[in-house]
Amino acid sequence: MAYQTINPYTNQVEHEYQQTTDEEIEQTLTAAHALYLKWRNGGELAERKQIITRLGELLRERKHELATIMTHDMGKLIGESEGEVELCASFCDYYVEHADQYLAPTPIYTESGNGYVLHQATGILMAVEPWNFPFYQIARVFIPNFLAGNPMVLKDASNCPTSAQAFADLVKEAGAPEGSLTNLFVSYDQVGAIIADKRVQGVCLTGSERGGQAVATEAAKNLKKSTMELGGNDAFIVLPDADIDELASIIYSARLYNAGQVCTSSKRFIIPDNLYDEFLERAKEIFSSVKMGDPMDPSTTLAPMNSEKAKRKLQKQVDLAIANGAKVVYGNQPVDLEGQFFMPTILTNITKDNPIFDQEMFGPVMSVYKYHDVQEAIDIANDSSYGLGNTVFAKNVSEARKVAAQIDTGMSWINSGWASLPELPFGGVKHSGYGRELAEQGFRSFINDHLVYEPEN
Ligand code: NAP
Repeated sequence: MAYQTINPYTNQVEHEYQQTTDEEIEQTLTAAHALYLKWRNGGELAERKQIITRLGELLRERKHELATIMTHDMGKLIGESEGEVELCASFCDYYVEHADQYLAPTPIYTESGNGYVLHQATGILMAVEPWNFPFYQIARVFIPNFLAGNPMVLKDASNCPTSAQAFADLVKEAGAPEGSLTNLFVSYDQVGAIIADKRVQGVCLTGSERGGQAVATEAAKNLKKSTMELGGNDAFIVLPDADIDELASIIYSARLYNAGQVCTSSKRFIIPDNLYDEFLERAKEIFSSVKMGDPMDPSTTLAPMNSEKAKRKLQKQVDLAIANGAKVVYGNQPVDLEGQFFMPTILTNITKDNPIFDQEMFGPVMSVYKYHDVQEAIDIANDSSYGLGNTVFAKNVSEARKVAAQIDTGMSWINSGWASLPELPFGGVKHSGYGRELAEQGFRSFINDHLVYEPEN
């Protein structure tokens, strides 16, 4: 497996990395396990908090330099990369502030005696992460688990190796001992062997359904706890009373941020018939006004996709949609730039028998559905194998809340596109996966809630 940075704006190979050997994996697991043994009963939490505080400082001090690495790896706009570095720094602040509280024993009082639950580390975590938010994806599992006392080994996407290594190097520079976070350039088989190792106690993956199934199978075979953060086909339901100007102001970020390559991007816009024509006009205006170009240029507003492979896959999906009756309202034209650009595209007339109806399109493609009554909108939103997030947009917020509660997803946003903050639990249901990252729920994903009970005689 080739770990390479191929800049998707220039198509140039900028960095290549050697595959990690089995001996290096063994050394990594030995060092990580030794740390776990030191940390499992709460040892050195104060030191770990200092290291994470320093990590936050380094992220802020080096924001532009680190953001540039991500932009070269997978093409995202430099401003978006800088925002991602800042978000990771905010995770440092949040978990340092909350670690003591989350790890404090919980007392239990019963009629037959008293006890308490210790919240302890469980062991090494194997993290398999994607390319679309190269730092954020690592940070959201590494920071809480390091504080909890779980060392982490990382297999990152093969197309953003420079970002993964830069993050691991920064953790080391912040003072983390060897074995705290080790970035490995490993094959799928080596991932399986790591999961099978008895020192490894947890497995987390963010990625596609295909990758999730493969890694979750390895975890299940070895009885290792896992969390899966998988794809989404998020609905954006507009209610009939929505203000069209306010709505228009969030369409770009809801669909085109990160060139549309966000698991929680709104992918299916479900619009009432009273607003449908105007919505399409506004969406066309927004899609046609983007500026494609160098992602390092702050005036660029639409980045290339992360790789040639991803662009080819998206084009195939759009072709499939059209071959099965979808109508192109805007876009789907070749882009005269050498990078992996995909023209923002708006599709309508996707019927339930269209094979694309239940597929995630991971790029700048919006599907628009028309509805007549609100129940129909809820039914369209729920008619999906996925259940990651959704948005409900309306003037009447209490109506929006009622609708949000009826959508089968792990997250809902009212009058906003998707968002991720350290205090908001992140994750889905159905084929979008299981378990949560971030917030207190995410912090507890790989904790042993260890009961100690003292019955009265
Ligand atoms: P992917 O192919 O599943 O890759 C994700 C990671 O899994 C990569 O590191 C990949 O390594 C690895 N991987 C894939 N198959 C594997 C296997 N059999 N054994 C071990 N490792 C394996 O996902 P992607 O298509 O690049 O990423 C985009 C997907 O991620 C989208 O569906 C998106 O919605 C989802 N996503 C979800 C969330 C969330 O929080 N729910 C967040 C971001 C993205 P290689 O690169 O070497 O193949």
